Amino acid sequence: MEDDLGGGVGTPDGWDRLWAPHRTAYLEGENRPLPGNDVPCPFCRIPMQGDDEGLIVARGELAYVVLNLYPYNAGHLLICTYRHIADLTDLSTQERNEVFELTAHSMKVLRKVSRAQGFNLGMNQGSISGAGIAEHIHQHVVPRWSGDANFMPVIGKTKVLPQLLQDTRSLLAESWNLV
Ligand SMILES: [Zn+2]
Repeated sequence: MEDDLGGGVGTPDGWDRLWAPHRTAYLEGENRPLPGNDVPCPFCRIPMQGDDEGLIVARGELAYVVLNLYPYNAGHLLICTYRHIADLTDLSTQERNEVFELTAHSMKVLRKVSRAQGFNLGMNQGSISGAGIAEHIHQHVVPRWSGDANFMPVIGKTKVLPQLLQDTRSLLAESWNLV
């Protein structure tokens, strides 16, 4: 999926990957909640699990930080509200503030732990936008390094080993209060 900017304003920096429907699903196939099935929302379920099991990096008052099971890059985080709300405009001011505070703190931690050189931040709003789980808002925080786009399309199709995700979670969680 190549960008054709048609003379518009913008830079073809790989942002399209973040918005591609087949890449944004937190869970896929039968585990994914869709209209018409009764699969529970994973973003509601995750906070009830332990941090290790749920891959939770940090818990805030109104929102929490979790590793994406299907990362674009190592350390790809999602900031989710505890409340099952789909749309940014329906969040309270306090929730919006906390989502962005957790986003900023995630950037600091990823810079410290993995020397991230840049980030893609964003939310898909509505299933037509490519949101894998449109019913529950989640902010993507994707760390970027020079040259990562060269191998991301290759490794991006492979699910990361659970052990690697656990190690990454521990590393980020231990560093969370140190930055
Ligand atoms: Zn939910």
